Formats: sequence, C-alpha cells, structure tokens
Amino acid sequence: MLDLNWTNLRPLPRSVAPFRGETTASYLRRLAAANQSDEKSLLAYITGIPRVTLPFAADRLAVVAGRDEWALRLAIPDLGLGRNRGPGNPRAYSRRKDDGLACRLCAAAKGIAEPVRCWKQPEDVICLRHGRWIGNGSTADSDQPDLRFQPDILQAHRRHLRLVRRHGRDAVAVGYAFAEYICRRWVGERSYNEGFRQRMEIFDGADWSVHHTAPLLAAAIYPQVVALTRLLASPFWQAQAQPGNSLGQQRFANEVSRTVAPGYRWPQPPRSGDPLCHWIMDRRPHDPPLLSYRKWPSASWLAAEQSERDAALSDATSTSRSRELSASLLWDAPGFSTQSGAA
Ligand SMILES: [Zn+2]
Repeated sequence: MLDLNWTNLRPLPRSVAPFRGETTASYLRRLAAANQSDEKSLLAYITGIPRVTLPFAADRLAVVAGRDEWALRLAIPDLGLGRNRGPGNPRAYSRRKDDGLACRLCAAAKGIAEPVRCWKQPEDVICLRHGRWIGNGSTADSDQPDLRFQPDILQAHRRHLRLVRRHGRDAVAVGYAFAEYICRRWVGERSYNEGFRQRMEIFDGADWSVHHTAPLLAAAIYPQVVALTRLLASPFWQAQAQPGNSLGQQRFANEVSRTVAPGYRWPQPPRSGDPLCHWIMDRRPHDPPLLSYRKWPSASWLAAEQSERDAALSDATSTSRSRELSASLLWDAPGFSTQSGAA
C-alpha cells in the first residue's frame, strides 16, 4: 500500500493520463488504483482534509498526478466549477444520471483497460467510431452492444444529432425523454413494436428475450424513439398536435403512423391508455418520472456557463492561468423503468 502520510504534496510514482470528458471521481479511482491506493486515502492526501467531498482544487490534483493543471481541467469538466461555484460545493458534481461509461474501445485505444466514467449529454448514447451503444442500460464495461449490423440504429443516431443542431439540446432532450417513455410503454404493451422486434432478432436471434433495463432494449427501441423525438421536439408538429386543433391532430397522427408507429389509430378510443394520446391531449403522459426533467437547467444558464468556459479556455493561453474553468452542462440520456420488453 502506498504511504500517503506526506506533509507536502508531491507526485505519485505512477502518473495516469485523463480521458476526455472523464469525471473527477473516475480519474481519482484510476489514479489510486495505478498507485495501489484507494480513492478515500488519495482524496484525503490531495485535499489535506479527511472525508472531504468532491470537487476540490485542481492545482493540488495536478501536483499529485504529475500532470499539467490545465490539461487536467480541459479533460475533466467538473474539476473547475466556475467563479461562483468554488471547490467544496458538491452541487454540480452530485447531480445524478449525468455520467456514464465511456466507450470501452475508445478507452482501450488510449491504453486504458479499466472502466472510465465520463460526463454525457442526453444524445451521447452511441460511439459512432466503434459502433457501440453506450447509452441507457450500459452499466458494465462489457455491456456495450455492437451495432455494426444495426444500420437503423446508427442512422437514427445521425438523425438525433441533426435534431440537436436544429432545435437545440433542451428541446430535443425533453422531446427525447417523452418519446423514450412512450416507446417503452408501447414495447411493454406489445404495440407498434415491429421494428423493435426485428432489431432484437438481429441482436439475439429469433428466441430473444430482454430485461427492461438492458442496454439491448434501449438500443433496439432507439430508432423509434428518435423518430418520435423528431415530432415532439418540433415547434411545427407541436402546434399541429395542440388540443383543440382536430385537423392538426389528425395530421400529426398521420405523421406518427407514417414515420413512427405504422397503423397508429386516431382518434383513439375514449379513455385510451395510449401514452402518445395523453401527450397529444394534455402534453404529458401520466407518469411522474417525466416531471424530473423540469429540474434541468435552462438554456440561458447553459449559454452563461458556455461563455464562461470559453472565456476561461481563452485565458488559459494568456496570463490568467489561475482562473477557474467553468464546468460544462453535463447531462446523461434519460432513463425510465418500463414493462418487460420480451415478446
Ligand atoms: Zn468508441
């Protein structure tokens, strides 16, 4: 075991390169492991305070890790939290569902064998370079489905990224959250799931079965989720589906039938339990998890954070190198529990 009872900070025997977008916790875990220590001891050594919580000052980590401070800040978004969020405030760090496993093949290409956790945006669900699912359900290092024989899923991801560019991340993230909830409900109810079943067969053969939390299920419904996101995030289609606009609602339902759920019925029978019908009629399916998305930061907050970060980055090349780097806005793709997806 490494002796960490030093009075003055000094570099550990083994240095570890950070992975782009890595969380501080993930980096600390890898650095400790490489030096045969544990995260708690290492954290106490770096901060000089027992039981300290993340985040902490990047300069002290840089000394211990034997790396350039600003290289660490650029790679690890939560190391600096901006001028108004000094070290010791764990608010930004402790948000849940903001991080997930990095693509293990990308990590391996950097010579990293152990799991790396990165900050993620809602649309960061696929590594296009390696054709791997890294989104919902991907909880283990080996749990990243191979998408090389799933052209629909890869194509859907390109559409997803285009939607973000067109409508903005906030609108698409919220639309995606609703769409994923609705599509999971359909899968659980064996409705409009033809494409899902075909993709599950490609993944797992004709007698496939899948747990509702499995990454395979999340990947197999993804094309339908993105197709529905296209409508739910679009101001035009939102206007068509407005309550009271019966002609527009029929047009909206026709588009759903054409691009999302072939055979989608409209109008739905009275007291229909169809989740999309609920979205059309009152703008939200009857399920409380979607309310959590109200906690997401607003677009103006994102813009402020982004400009602060850009300023910090440009200052990093000038004399103001001690200035704190603002954290990115860091989200993970949303995930809900739904019914079983087995056919
Ligand atoms: Zn990759």
